[in-house]
Amino acid sequence: MNKIGVIGAGTMGNGIAHVFAMKGYSVNLMDINSEALDRALATIDKNLGRMLAKERITADEKSATLNNITVTTDMAEGLAGCDLVVEAATEKVDLKLKIFKHLDETCGPDTILATNTSSISITKIAAVTNRPEKVIGMHFMNPVPIMKLVEVIRGYSTSDEVTNLVMDLSKKLGKIPVEVNDYPGFVANRMLMPMINEAIYSLYEGVAGVEEIDTVMKLGMAHPMGPLQLADFIGLDVCHSILNVLHDGFGNPKYAPCPLLVNMVTAGKLGKKSGEGFYLYTKGSKDLVVAGSFKK
Ligand code: NAD
Repeated sequence: MNKIGVIGAGTMGNGIAHVFAMKGYSVNLMDINSEALDRALATIDKNLGRMLAKERITADEKSATLNNITVTTDMAEGLAGCDLVVEAATEKVDLKLKIFKHLDETCGPDTILATNTSSISITKIAAVTNRPEKVIGMHFMNPVPIMKLVEVIRGYSTSDEVTNLVMDLSKKLGKIPVEVNDYPGFVANRMLMPMINEAIYSLYEGVAGVEEIDTVMKLGMAHPMGPLQLADFIGLDVCHSILNVLHDGFGNPKYAPCPLLVNMVTAGKLGKKSGEGFYLYTKGSKDLVVAGSFKK
């Protein structure tokens, strides 16, 4: 395994390109948006700069990593000769199905096709290809260069050979892979999203305020970040769509998104990326300020 394609150069795609390139793989990072590619390269450069300042890498390692990354908006050119493609484009079912159909038609027959999806069925994605045994979930966590876990998700038809290869590859990247099967939310989001939803219900029902709920989970359960702050960080729209996947997939009302979450998403309060969620986010400030609607 030598050449890796990464599709989507957003939050996750740039981190995935970063970790592969640091381990000497040749990475083609692709996006339909050339500005996203520029931003991704700037982010990788900044993150490597931080590692250099902390003496975790040398200046030579930093420039070798950057030299291992090529960016392009030309998918056909980017995919040529890739041994593995990791798709990290926007979390939309129709888009992922279209991308995987294209990948199957364009990549060589031995290329392994992985997706970083948070919640979409691997089996469903694999079903639009003629190589379902070579389609797998490779769910990196955010921020990718820092977080150790890779949830490796076997679709219904994923082969043992491909699973073992992706498990080994994740270890080579310095990560700790965990193998799971393809059911709604896999393991990570099946556990995390009900907890976040319950925190939002606790706020909605007036059990406690934003800071109180987060403080209970931080100090009482040793979570580094409270569930409401984490929801803001992930994006409230993303939490909402993952809860819908769980609700639809299991048909169990316990996964229904809290009405407060639905209202906030409808109002465009999406958390950190929109500047307001349960907390307010002002550029340049690291202070955690509770949003006006939740102030007592
Ligand atoms: P993002 O919105 O930051 O980036 C998505 C990128 O995909 C954008 O740059 C967009 O231009 C690009 N894109 C859209 N259509 C494309 C196409 N047809 N071809 C190529 N590029 C295309 O999204 P993100 O947060 O990086 O999420 C990417 C994937 O990773 C999603 O499946 C998401 O569920 C998953 N994920 C996200 C997180 C997270 O915390 N953000 C964590 C784990 C997994």
